[in-house]
Amino acid sequence: MSAKGKDNTNTADVRDDRVVTNSLGNPLNEPYATQRIGQHGPLLLQDYNLLDNLAHFNRERVPERNPHAHGSGAFGYFEVTDDITDICGSAMFDTIGKRTRCLTRFSTVGGEKGSADTVRDPRGFATKFYTEEGNLDWVYNNTPIFFIRDPSKFPTFIHTQKRNPQTNMKDANMFWDFLTTPENQVAVHQVMILFSDRGTPASYRTMNGYSGHTYKWSNKKGDWHYVQVHILSDQGIKNLTIEEATRIAGENPDYCQQDLFTSIEKGKFPSWTVYIQTMTEEQAQKFPFSVFDLTKIWPHKDYPLRRVGKLVLNENPKNFFAQVEQAAFAPSNTVPYQEASADPVLQSRLFAYADAHRYRIGPNYAQLPVNCPYASKFFNPVIRDGPMNIDGNFGSEPNYYATNTNYQFIQQDRPIQEHQEVWHGPAIPYHWKTDAGDIDFVQATDLYRKVLSKQEGAQERQAHNIGIHAAAASPEIQERVIQMFTRVDKELGDNVRKVINAKNAEENAKL
Ligand code: NDP
Repeated sequence: MSAKGKDNTNTADVRDDRVVTNSLGNPLNEPYATQRIGQHGPLLLQDYNLLDNLAHFNRERVPERNPHAHGSGAFGYFEVTDDITDICGSAMFDTIGKRTRCLTRFSTVGGEKGSADTVRDPRGFATKFYTEEGNLDWVYNNTPIFFIRDPSKFPTFIHTQKRNPQTNMKDANMFWDFLTTPENQVAVHQVMILFSDRGTPASYRTMNGYSGHTYKWSNKKGDWHYVQVHILSDQGIKNLTIEEATRIAGENPDYCQQDLFTSIEKGKFPSWTVYIQTMTEEQAQKFPFSVFDLTKIWPHKDYPLRRVGKLVLNENPKNFFAQVEQAAFAPSNTVPYQEASADPVLQSRLFAYADAHRYRIGPNYAQLPVNCPYASKFFNPVIRDGPMNIDGNFGSEPNYYATNTNYQFIQQDRPIQEHQEVWHGPAIPYHWKTDAGDIDFVQATDLYRKVLSKQEGAQERQAHNIGIHAAAASPEIQERVIQMFTRVDKELGDNVRKVINAKNAEENAKL
């Protein structure tokens, strides 16, 4: 492997003499003076410093992410605490005590870049590991599942959680219309978590991260397992009530950003313990759900958590735009021995995330300090040129795999996907609709009856949170919401109805 690069992921280059210049390094005499004819006459086009200043200002923004626009981030490290080399051969796990530098970005999903931190929404939990085998991104959420399992629904689904095209407002009809359409009700498990206490985390430090997707990890002998990753908060889970979250959204919309930044600034470094669940191919065949179904969890009692390591965030970014806004996470960024499974949503994300960064930042986004694989170093002389090429572009290296160049390809040493699962079948259009029976509701019901029942007041808050939100929808959609939650549990459906009726009566009384 070629020589490794220098870690410049969190450094800022500032001129030592602090002489202020225009963007080409020409010193500025006076920051605010503009060249004019006479004192109050028109400006001169030759005033390049003014043009430079205004033109760059017009280009300060890169397109915000769609979704996950609003987020916070910090650097830190991952440390191996337990040996899992029987499961995974990645170098980052090869020695107990080994540390790998990381960047984690937390985010909301539906809100725009300036939106409030405490809104009810899943939270993104993405970590970039700068490993010696290249950058690895775990692009996770704070929920172990998701709303859809057909990737073709993603743009439609996200549109329903964003703004109405005419009113430009969030729209309870759109929101619930999509989720209660019978073929989409597989979302109900995730909707249950979204409207539980965990839908409004008190801070990024006090929530978990989950792969949600199934991955395929292999050891150096080529034995492989399906794997799910759980990143559990060492600070414990803390959430806000709907009333607290709403109040804080008005009083301090940057509540979670402030909490994360201030904790790290004060040396109170948040940490998470990283676990895996593993499943063999034989176990997967007997599992009552497809392991590629992103709307289902693997029960803890059958697939216990196995500890791997610790994630610690101990370093605030020096510059938010350079290191968080421009950070480009993609599940396609992976390292040897960690592969995507056939989960169709994950497979689509392998395309969509990198594509989003090419659009947002440009095709050479991976060359930026925060994204570049400095610990392994990028070398591929065929990947050349393009806008904003900033790393020297491999100088005089041939731009093809020329003979006699001694390029090394080490793929053959590693187990690769072809040796593992074998797929056969015709190419068919397949819509993985919600099952007409109860199978897609079982885990939502488990959550309500077996988990929330053990947390004081959690079932009541569940009905309250759903009812308050759904009361803004039309009567027909309200009824669909009630029916869907009645399928989860009759008591829940009845209680949602009561909350909706009470909220409607309260609103009518104001008229
Ligand atoms: P367990 O009783 O072993 O696990 C229940 C888990 O539920 C807890 O460990 C906790 O996950 C999580 N939990 C607690 N409160 C909430 C909440 N308000 N919203 C979402 N999750 C919560 O049972 P099972 O493994 O059989 O799972 C039962 C149900 O728990 C599932 O249907 C699923 O809805 C939920 N769940 C399961 C997870 C899993 O991987 N098995 C993970 C998360 C949720 P944690 O320890 O991760 O904080």
